[in-house]
Amino acid sequence: MKILVINCGSSSLKYQLLDMEGEKLLAKGLCERIGIDGHLTHKPQNGRPVFNEDVPMPTHTEAIAAVLDKLTSPEYGVVESMSEIGAVGHRVVHGGEKFACSVLIDDAVMDALAECIPLAPLHNPANITGINACKAVMGENVPQVGVFDTAFHQTMPGKAFMYPIPYSYYTDLKVRRYGFHGTSHRYVSKRAAEMMGKPIEELKLISCHMGNGSSICAIDGGKSVDTSMGFTPIAGLPMGTRCGDIDVSILEYLSANTGKDIKELTNILNKMSGVLGVSGVSSDFRDLDTAAAQGNERAKLALDMFHYAVAKTVGGYVAAMNGVDGIIFTAGIGENSAETRAEICKYLKYLGVEICPECNKKRGEDTFISTPDSKVKVMVIPTNEELVIARDTRDIVEAL
Ligand code: AMP
Repeated sequence: MKILVINCGSSSLKYQLLDMEGEKLLAKGLCERIGIDGHLTHKPQNGRPVFNEDVPMPTHTEAIAAVLDKLTSPEYGVVESMSEIGAVGHRVVHGGEKFACSVLIDDAVMDALAECIPLAPLHNPANITGINACKAVMGENVPQVGVFDTAFHQTMPGKAFMYPIPYSYYTDLKVRRYGFHGTSHRYVSKRAAEMMGKPIEELKLISCHMGNGSSICAIDGGKSVDTSMGFTPIAGLPMGTRCGDIDVSILEYLSANTGKDIKELTNILNKMSGVLGVSGVSSDFRDLDTAAAQGNERAKLALDMFHYAVAKTVGGYVAAMNGVDGIIFTAGIGENSAETRAEICKYLKYLGVEICPECNKKRGEDTFISTPDSKVKVMVIPTNEELVIARDTRDIVEAL
């Protein structure tokens, strides 16, 4: 079965077409500036040329139509016709408490997605738009599946997901920790168990997804038991531009002293904070590494704060699970920055973590970076959220 994986943003749409026989990537691409003018980058994986041109995209429907046109075109295509595409899998950011696993999208699911809009006002409307656009272009008969960023974390116990605020805010307004990056944490933890040669049910794992957005997840017996992002993705670690955990009273204090309202300040905490805010240099860790190497003290401080926050969270999750067998690094920073991994692991020596500097230099492959004697195994596993979405979609559609 060939499956189209869609990740829809408010003005963008990323896609991959996978052949599930051999789990082979056939094509991938990106629509940008939807609703503004429109640009499509389409990369077939069969040797045909890349398409990289402006294409009018007043709405997501034209974007999907453009993608399908390229996927089936004689010059840039990878399939003969749209009928070869058996199903579509959508990344959906927020499933609230309604979705603990991936689901076939029907009218009831669409209603439930709409109910989750207040929890993810920027993301869920775009996901809903993407689903409707696929229906409009591909027809109602092509099955569509929703795979949720939050679903993996629905196994967290109350002591981990509740905030210590009046209980009615949970019951009436659904304020709780949801966690994000669930598809990534699920993928890398499963892969880690395979690499370690043990059933995941017997393992305590800590997954560190460190990219533009970063979150850590404690996975006990294959189930998420705690994670660092919260009600929204701003919580937990300092990130590229997000502040992570800060004292909530700072908002009132800043509002009183800057005249900015909560909306403006929240925007600053989301988009101008984190390592960008501290360093004043960049949200990109490559730029911070360069600046720190040139003696920029604030860049060094931002990096130190990040390493320290990751290590403290990992330490907390060791306590939460009463032990740890394996630690995983993934996403842009986790997969590429040997230095970041080494700095974080320096804090974890007390656990018996020993890093092999040679193995830590490897890139782009699933690998152990701990020594054979290390009490806790440390792994780098490139994440593959699209593959998880495609696998879930196939499993659900094959069971129909
Ligand atoms: P992601 O959100 O997973 O795509 O990760 C993107 C981030 O990964 C970038 O903003 C960089 O901060 C980081 N990154 C990518 N390559 C490197 C590298 N070689 N060294 C350090 N950080 C990197």
